[in-house]
Amino acid sequence: MSKPAHCPSCRKPVLPRAKNPLFPFCSARCRAVDLGKWLGEEYRVGGGSADEQEDELPSAAGESDSESGA
Ligand SMILES: [Zn+2]
Repeated sequence: MSKPAHCPSCRKPVLPRAKNPLFPFCSARCRAVDLGKWLGEEYRVGGGSADEQEDELPSAAGESDSESGA
């Protein structure tokens, strides 16, 4: 169990968990970067693509627009 840990954000070697409250990150900044990366991907996968698909509906609703005109 002596495998050296590396920061998931910058890939630099980090201190063992016992000596590093920020484990497995080397610094609070790297932890924030990694957290933001996960949140960003989640937002893109969950909300972004779904939002683009729903974006096609308004174009179909444009037909109803001509109905109200006629
Ligand atoms: Zn780091």
